[in-house]
Amino acid sequence: MKIKAAVLREMGKPGPYTESKPFQIEEVELDPPQQNEVLIKIHAAGLCHSDLSVIDGNRPRQMPMVLGHEAAGEVVELGPGVKDLAIGDHVVFSFMPSCGHCNPCITSRPGLCENGVAANGAGVLLEGGIRLSGRDGEQIYHHLGVSGFAEYTVASRQSVVRIDKTLSWDIAALFGCAIITGVGAITNTAKLALGQTILITGMGGIGFAALMGALAAGASKVIVADINEEKLKKALELGAHSAVHSGEENAIDKVKALTNGGVDIGLECAGVVPALDFTFKATRRGGKTVTVGLPNPAYRLEISPLQLVAEERTLQGSFLGSCVPPRDVPAYIALYQSGRLPVDKLLSHKLRLEDINEGFERMVKGEAIRQVIIFD
Ligand SMILES: [Zn+2]
Ligand SMILES: [Zn+2]
Repeated sequence: MKIKAAVLREMGKPGPYTESKPFQIEEVELDPPQQNEVLIKIHAAGLCHSDLSVIDGNRPRQMPMVLGHEAAGEVVELGPGVKDLAIGDHVVFSFMPSCGHCNPCITSRPGLCENGVAANGAGVLLEGGIRLSGRDGEQIYHHLGVSGFAEYTVASRQSVVRIDKTLSWDIAALFGCAIITGVGAITNTAKLALGQTILITGMGGIGFAALMGALAAGASKVIVADINEEKLKKALELGAHSAVHSGEENAIDKVKALTNGGVDIGLECAGVVPALDFTFKATRRGGKTVTVGLPNPAYRLEISPLQLVAEERTLQGSFLGSCVPPRDVPAYIALYQSGRLPVDKLLSHKLRLEDINEGFERMVKGEAIRQVIIFD
């Protein structure tokens, strides 16, 4: 079938994106779902910082590609072998398909699925192959098994989680990346305990989701840090107890003073090394620093191994919020529905697919929390 999609053909185009227009809206061909795949009509797709990392070339991918890994949609066709979904079901995408039988999958860490990582790295679906093509049969790659910046997509059954049909599409999409990554980092990776203190550095969609997760999980003090005053103000409105401008000279001392020597948990969501360094240093002796940001692979962090030992520090990465998506997505949706995870407050802009370049320019300028493309 012919569909409309935002295609990225070249990474590293200079800004402003409103002029260089890294995405072109094109008509592309989408093949029908194969074994264990489904055809989904996309209803909403969020703009995430990791899409930007592909656009600016920090995390290179195969080109051309239909990006977008945070999306929600409706099942319109089932490929052979799909027996546990029905046409009309509403789904949220998980950007790491899990095969269910590799070592990480059988040890409840599907975010590290070996077959999912290989498929995502190759820009293909979990079952192998590509269902998108351009003119003259040109191959167009899938982004993390999702490719949500399109009217329709074909995805592995293992890339989607069925959700409650009463949830609105714009909110549903957010659960695919920002919320599972941010809230999961709090509950699954950091395992924040009731009464602990936490510092969250880097207030984008994931940082704000983590803030809500930390409050829902019973943190006694949530401190947020960023270099953007507007975002700090917004975080305070959303319930953060204190805000620190991380660019200030004595920012680490400020966090330590607020927490009697440092936070129990430091969570870095900015994806830049100075933010991780700051977060690590503001975490108390014996504390845990968790990082969810995705920096350029060439970057290096300098830490003292002695400090790790003598101060019993933990430094841990968190991917996909260490989530098991079919377990955690419905749980987090239920928390939203009961008013304990007000993720609707993350949604700052709704756009049309045609406005995608403007949306990413807004992200570069730090003027949005979460922007979602809405499809008719
Ligand atoms: Zn994302
Ligand atoms: Zn697996």
